[in-house]
Amino acid sequence: MILYIPKETLPGETRVPALPEAVKKLAALGATVQVEPGIGQSLQIPDSAYSDAGAEVVSDPAAALGQADMVLRLNKASPEGLKSGALHVSYLDPFLDLENIKAFAEAGVSAICMEMIPRTTIAQKMDALSSQASLAGYAAVVQAVAKLPRSLPMMMTPAGTLSPCKVFIIGAGVAGLQAIATAKRLGARVEAFDTRPVVKEQVESLGAKFLQIDLGETGQTAGGYAKELTPEQIAKQQEAQGKAIAKADIVITTAKLFGRPAPRLITDDQIAAMTPGSVIVDMATSGGGNVEGSVIDEDVVQHGVTIIGDSNLEGRVPTDASQMYGSNLLNLVSHFWDKEANTFNLNREDEIIAGALLTHEGEVVHPVIKERMGA
Ligand code: NAD
Repeated sequence: MILYIPKETLPGETRVPALPEAVKKLAALGATVQVEPGIGQSLQIPDSAYSDAGAEVVSDPAAALGQADMVLRLNKASPEGLKSGALHVSYLDPFLDLENIKAFAEAGVSAICMEMIPRTTIAQKMDALSSQASLAGYAAVVQAVAKLPRSLPMMMTPAGTLSPCKVFIIGAGVAGLQAIATAKRLGARVEAFDTRPVVKEQVESLGAKFLQIDLGETGQTAGGYAKELTPEQIAKQQEAQGKAIAKADIVITTAKLFGRPAPRLITDDQIAAMTPGSVIVDMATSGGGNVEGSVIDEDVVQHGVTIIGDSNLEGRVPTDASQMYGSNLLNLVSHFWDKEANTFNLNREDEIIAGALLTHEGEVVHPVIKERMGA
């Protein structure tokens, strides 16, 4: 079976789909691994590192793409150039780009969508949403600190005492918890809020304070995701967070709703109430944003407050992000690798495949995506 890993083409992408270490392990499974020349360019990794790891660096990328049995990528791509019957693994933005998913079906390509890998214990090792969110949470703090005109820890010096910075984190999922841990390590005083009450204990175990807001029934889905709040609950949350936002030097918002637009949680008035020079990181800009006035992939200054809208924060630590993403891909491939047949076993009875396979044999096969398409 030929596994082909093309070079990423998304402008500004710093990550690569797999580092040579992951490629070596893919080749060790018995697969013929091919990579596009320049695959590691954004990380200064030479092609020779990939060939040393057992991959063939192809001379004709278009031909390699057209002959591959399985293509492994990072960012969303179109099925263009793939052969019918091929397997394709990547992010696919499944709820925002239904047309592309239709195109995969029409091309006869079986698309496995990394965002849809179920969040179960067994699939944790393949869960790219988590591996990338964790690094993004770390990078959010680092980016905010770089813009902040203050230092984070308390410092007692003969010239006087500097009080610790206050960091407020909204949404304490994978990214939020890592942001809390990072800000704590840097010496900040951290407070956090999440609509899922189960998170309180995790926040406190990291040494942060959990902001109590009684929103009535909130809960979480069976998959561990937050449920959408009513407009009244959102208004209540906004009001109750007001004080924590006003006194924070850094606010990081990570609140997302899987498959739906992100909730708008910080208003322009609340930004105006912050101290000029403060920083907000809106980690939900790709889903429409949590913060009024934030702009995807831009830094804007509003009322003297810098709002960072970077939608690829994990790309700020691209070596680690590539290592983790490559491991997620490797774990997926090796989990379903049939050693005897030397091939990827697309076992549709398996809950991981059933959860992440969007198209197969000319059809859109995922029930949730089919429903979104109105089929
Ligand atoms: P996410 O990126 O969808 O959302 C980020 C956070 O925002 C979540 O904690 C969510 O509760 C929170 N949020 C949503 N609306 C909010 C609002 N109005 N105000 C404040 N917070 C709000 O979620 P995620 O980080 O990818 O994962 C969420 C949870 O999923 C995890 O904490 C975990 O319980 C579960 N999970 C399980 C596994 C596993 O078992 N393998 C893996 C990853 C995640």
